[in-house]
Amino acid sequence: MNRIVMKFGGTAVATGENIRNVACIIGDTVKQGCEAVVVVSALDGVTDELSEAAEQAKKEKKDYIQAFKKRMLDRHGDAVDKAIKNPRLRKELEDEIKKTVDELEKVLTGICYVGELTPKSKDYVLSFGERLSAPLVCGALRDMKLESQSLTGKEAGIVTNSDFGDANPLLNVTTHQLKERLEPLLEKRVIPVVSGYIAATQDGVVTTLGRGGSDYTATLIAAALRADEVWIWTDVDGIMTADPKIIPSAKLLPELSYQEAAEMAIFGAKAMHPRALEPLMRENVPARIRNVFNPKNPGTLISSEQTVKRRDAVKAVALIKDVALINISGAGMVGAPGSYARIFDLLGKNGINVMMISAAVSEANISFVIHRNLLGRALSILEIALLGKGLVSDVAAEDDVCVVAAMGANMKGTLGVASRVFSAQARSGVNIRMIAQGSSELNISFVVKEKDGKAAVQAIHDEFKLDKI
Ligand code: ASP
Ligand code: MG
Repeated sequence: MNRIVMKFGGTAVATGENIRNVACIIGDTVKQGCEAVVVVSALDGVTDELSEAAEQAKKEKKDYIQAFKKRMLDRHGDAVDKAIKNPRLRKELEDEIKKTVDELEKVLTGICYVGELTPKSKDYVLSFGERLSAPLVCGALRDMKLESQSLTGKEAGIVTNSDFGDANPLLNVTTHQLKERLEPLLEKRVIPVVSGYIAATQDGVVTTLGRGGSDYTATLIAAALRADEVWIWTDVDGIMTADPKIIPSAKLLPELSYQEAAEMAIFGAKAMHPRALEPLMRENVPARIRNVFNPKNPGTLISSEQTVKRRDAVKAVALIKDVALINISGAGMVGAPGSYARIFDLLGKNGINVMMISAAVSEANISFVIHRNLLGRALSILEIALLGKGLVSDVAAEDDVCVVAAMGANMKGTLGVASRVFSAQARSGVNIRMIAQGSSELNISFVVKEKDGKAAVQAIHDEFKLDKI
């Protein structure tokens, strides 16, 4: 019998209708004789709303909290209405939702009173999205006469350190407890529905696994229970050669290696939470990205073995928008140990994530890419700290740029890939502002002006004939 862990993302459970659809998908899988463990995200957008509500509470906005409470009750109440027919089940769920939302209100009111939001209390607030969605999916399954039980990540046994906002699971206890708590349910033919994203420290304090963390919950469970596959259900058919909104002829990639999928996650493609692949690689459990609105499609399979060998080097190309390029120059940096460290230390301490770096051996300048919305802050921090001190003579920025990234496992060790990537750009008249290729050789990233982004992606898609994949 196959054991499958199925994770449903926020759009898959966005409404009551969607939740019913999800319950049908789970039901079909079980009827085919599979054992299923279900992991769910919060209803689409709810985690963002919770985050905003926590910030408003910190600003002591009591009215906002009241309005927010009503929105949460309405949204989840409406989902119950549409997802569940049985009046008894409905009543049970309505009561449970009310109780949970009351607790949320108390937490937010507490934050309001002290006017302070710690990472710990923020995680507590963020946990409510999944705490509300899992019972709903469980209820929809029961409504279809399937035995099911909902558990929070903590109840399922996921234990983490106390890095609130981005906690790391303690693997040995977590694996042990997941098996101990979920396997007896599977033996009794009960479908466990686990709330994704949330866990707890050893002392039982609620933590989260970082945004998008439900994927990680699913893969931790899949590895612990040695599942045959983990299915990541989302609202697209799988991973594509390029964004079909930019390249209409983009094709679905039937297979990817773990390494390639990790690259895609980093590109911001609709793949998986980057850390989510680790448990799978360790236990060699394949993952499949699937579409809840098109369940007949087999999706993209991510595993260690590739059945179809593709000879060409590049497999996919991505466009990363909303970025900015910063260029720091100064003869003072040449041969001065610690000068780059100084720059990145400043950025790191101020919470500015660096996405891409390039520096020539001349050492007289260094360029890097950050999110565009952080540009103003980054520039003022760098200018105040660095200018006029002999190290740096100029800090310049471009905010009308984007990053293009070509990716594929076969790029490693293949001659002429870079030459083809860049010749294609030259033929399309695209000027390149900055280049980076990590020594993993799995991807080449470069910066072009925003107006050239589409042409740059198209040039690579054409050069490597990705529409014929
Ligand atoms: N609900 C969480 C988020 O939006 C976790 C997830 O969806 O995977 O980040
Ligand atoms: Mg997600």
